[in-house]
Amino acid sequence: MTATVLVINSGSSSIKYQLVDPEGGQALASGLVERIGEAEGHIEHKAGGQVTERYERVSDHGEGLRQVLALFEEVGPDLAEAGIVAVGHRVVMGGSAYDGPVRIDDDVLGVIEELSPLAPLHNPANLTGIQVGRMLLPDVPHVAVFDTAFFRNLPDDAATYALDREVAEKFSVRRYGAHGTSHQYVSAKAAEMLGRDDLKQIVLHLGNGASASAVVGGRAVDTSMGLTPLEGLVMGTRTGDIDAAVVFHLARNGGMSVDEIDNLFNKRSGLKGLTGENDLREVHRLIDAGDENARVGLGVYTHRLRKYIGSYAAVMGGLDVLSFTAGVGENDDVVRAGAVKGLEFLGVEIDLEKNQVRSKEPRVISPDGARVTVMVIPTNEELAIARQAMSLL
Ligand code: ADP
Repeated sequence: MTATVLVINSGSSSIKYQLVDPEGGQALASGLVERIGEAEGHIEHKAGGQVTERYERVSDHGEGLRQVLALFEEVGPDLAEAGIVAVGHRVVMGGSAYDGPVRIDDDVLGVIEELSPLAPLHNPANLTGIQVGRMLLPDVPHVAVFDTAFFRNLPDDAATYALDREVAEKFSVRRYGAHGTSHQYVSAKAAEMLGRDDLKQIVLHLGNGASASAVVGGRAVDTSMGLTPLEGLVMGTRTGDIDAAVVFHLARNGGMSVDEIDNLFNKRSGLKGLTGENDLREVHRLIDAGDENARVGLGVYTHRLRKYIGSYAAVMGGLDVLSFTAGVGENDDVVRAGAVKGLEFLGVEIDLEKNQVRSKEPRVISPDGARVTVMVIPTNEELAIARQAMSLL
């Protein structure tokens, strides 16, 4: 019988899930519960080519997960028959505590809770998902897979901010990174496809949130997200890198509170702030209609990508593979072309025809014989979480 893992990604008002066969890589079912706690919630369950949708109030995460388990019973697949052996939970912040997956017990729950000040929007929601998950599925082990784990052992040079040591230590200020599960999965996939384990790689995970990493021989040596997922690349609604003095300026001269600036930087900036749209498909539409702000916005976005590619090539002393992944990275050939423009001196080139192919398969888009292999590798965080959970059993 196949062994399967139920992967749960619990957000502040949503639960996303997938029942995964870690060996074969297929998802037997997937779905989400959203708008938890609002007047009308939405549940969508996909299994066996069938989509079941419900619109009704979902009072809390416990109720949401109960509904999901009921759907598994009603429409299938039956979890027991599908051979469920574990539940894998995505947890955003593992701080300095975890560099790999961990089987959840009360001590682990305590640590995830203690780390909440470093990820106040995410860890409490992840914790709720774990608590209701353990209550409703008590007979299988629950495993936490941390977004930060792949970056736990970054070299000190990359992980340390040039900040007063005492303050940094007292408040745990260092680079933790994020999207680690995706960076690890994509870099491992590239190594597997090229049959080499000594590669110098850059992974660009470009979704609504976006991050870059530098990976040498399977080990992360730098990443663009920092204490929180705000730092680094330009994102859908986040600034990415910005002079910290902008905060002082807006507080002192703009009369803005810390919470207002937090909201501005995280929710009203990035592509959204620059162009009015956070979705790149909309940004392209605006550019086609002659919108100047959208043109500049895309320019800021790709300029930042080139800057990171150059700096990570320098950090690693070379570059063998550059991979694009996530919603933008997998689908947007214009962004990919913009990201590598002018980088021929580094050996980075893409083949225009290959770049325009639309596919869900991992693929090479650099010309034959290019010094750097440029790839598009669809990420699969759920599969990676399922495999990591399995690895502990
Ligand atoms: P999340 O960070 O929410 O997981 P995803 O990885 O799903 O994000 O990426 C979502 C983003 O991907 C969208 O906001 C949009 O900008 C981009 N995107 C999705 N499809 C396309 C497409 N066909 N062309 C360009 N961009 C796309």
